[in-house]
Amino acid sequence: MEFSIIAEIFERMENTAKRIELTNLLVELLKKTPKKIISNTVYLLQGIIRPNFEGVELGVAEKLAIRAISKSSGLSIKKIEDDYKKCGDLGLTASNILKLKTQTTFTAEKITLERVYETLFRIAKLEGKGSQDLKMKYISSLLNDATPLEAKFVLKILLGTLRLGIAENTIMDALAIAFTGKKENKEQIENAYNVSSDLGKVSLLIATDGIDEIKKFKISLFSPIRPMLADRVKSEKEAIKKMSKIFAAEYKLDGERVQIHKNVNEVVLFSRRLENITQYYPDIVENVKKSLSVNEGIFEAEIVPVNENTGEFLPFQELMHRRRKYKLEKAISQYPITVNFFDVLYFDKKDCLNLEYSERRKILEKLVNEDDFSKLVPMLLVKNENDIEDFLENSINSGCEGLMLKTLDAPYRAGARGSNWLKLKREYRNELGDSLDLIVIGAYFGRGRRTGLYGTLLLGTYNPDKDNFPSVCKVGTGFTDESLDQLYQILSNKITLKKNSRVVSEMEADVWFEPELVLEIVASEITLSPIHKTGLNLIRKGSGFALRFPKFTGKIRYEKAVEDASTDEEVLTLYKGQSKFSQVK
Ligand code: ATP
Repeated sequence: MEFSIIAEIFERMENTAKRIELTNLLVELLKKTPKKIISNTVYLLQGIIRPNFEGVELGVAEKLAIRAISKSSGLSIKKIEDDYKKCGDLGLTASNILKLKTQTTFTAEKITLERVYETLFRIAKLEGKGSQDLKMKYISSLLNDATPLEAKFVLKILLGTLRLGIAENTIMDALAIAFTGKKENKEQIENAYNVSSDLGKVSLLIATDGIDEIKKFKISLFSPIRPMLADRVKSEKEAIKKMSKIFAAEYKLDGERVQIHKNVNEVVLFSRRLENITQYYPDIVENVKKSLSVNEGIFEAEIVPVNENTGEFLPFQELMHRRRKYKLEKAISQYPITVNFFDVLYFDKKDCLNLEYSERRKILEKLVNEDDFSKLVPMLLVKNENDIEDFLENSINSGCEGLMLKTLDAPYRAGARGSNWLKLKREYRNELGDSLDLIVIGAYFGRGRRTGLYGTLLLGTYNPDKDNFPSVCKVGTGFTDESLDQLYQILSNKITLKKNSRVVSEMEADVWFEPELVLEIVASEITLSPIHKTGLNLIRKGSGFALRFPKFTGKIRYEKAVEDASTDEEVLTLYKGQSKFSQVK
């Protein structure tokens, strides 16, 4: 299929914000797409090359793209940077520059979607010495044959800046309409997506075999299931109101969530974001071969660092040592962990998602052979506030964050946040009642001991309606020397020449970042602010929300995507939950 077809539809999508129009354009595109490239087209719509859990990442930096534009246009890097500084979008720059070029030379053969996809895939697979030069060659060869409009979208896909305003939800609406004629069939498509996390695979199936096959869609090992999430409650009383007569309370451990897929030959571990994290935990791979008595299974657990001598849970941050390249072996012996099982989603050809919680727990107790490494999350049946309070106390004393409360007869709802799971935390440190997960959007250079590092970070929330990141506070406390160092290393790879077009901030920063990193922050209260843009106009015209006395807890939430960060709605709820006294201060 000619790439110009998709580029033209993308252009029309960029010019509308109406969901109905976007859906119609998507339907038009899906119908025009030959079946054999439907999966790849859907991945590109999601801004990816392969489903996220396969870890195929493009890894193209702005600098490299600028070099490629320069090579294929013959213009200097400086000229290209100047245009980019003016328009703030390298896709547009590529298009502007190629417009100049097409006046003098004529373009060669037409590019196809297949060729674009294949080139992107090759670029993603390149690594090691000489890979940057090769990537540049591939990109400039595509640009040589592209029209300005095509170049714009090739660049946007490459840099991950394609923002068409279509969420996965809209793609699923369009798939239902295009291939079944009925929007209502989206529910079946969504179910299939929730248990496979692979929209490309689901699209191919619906396009070729229709809705009946989708209805029969099954869990498959090594394709992660989208996790079930919990609603938040503030007190035992609120929990009792929301739950039925008797329910389960489990310790809410403060670690890293893991989905374990196992057959007789292989174990694969997925994070909460469904990225493959097997490489960081060879000790889990070894241990679960013994501790899980199944041939095949999918389990959920929380990985928690422990003190080997006392068995006490240690802070979550200790897990970060696992992420350091070359030091993994040392980390495994110095920072031991336990794996604490809380759910079973599948075992030996049996899908457990539709089983009630109480039944899944029974199965789990049978299948997990507890030892010093593999454990079951402590659970108690509770029915009143006192029961919850006592169990919460025990959980906090063992170093946990609080409790997870679970309805006994509820199934596992993949990909859904709902009230069948409630989380009750006791955050002593945090007067707001809960922490926030905020996105690093910019930074200011440090002074004194922090010279040469970032001393203060500018943070934002996520606004799902606008798909952007409005600022909410600057944070300069809670950092240790080690964490400042670590953040500097991580953030230096995310610097952008200009403020990202999705960042909304009136404040200027010394450096701007690609919004990718999420940090956990506590604060004493939320106030109205004339400067920050989170929740702008929600309470008062011209005012947004700001955090007072924000503090980094030490947790880098690398298991969260920026789209999972705290939203302006969540900040609004916390603001409203404060006492009247603190709101008028
Ligand atoms: P939080 O910021 O509170 O960790 P979250 O957005 O990551 O929240 P939630 O669904 O709100 O996810 O909270 C559930 C998280 O708590 C899970 O992702 C998991 O990592 C962790 N957890 C700890 N203990 C349990 C448990 N017993 N059952 C389920 N999840 C648990």
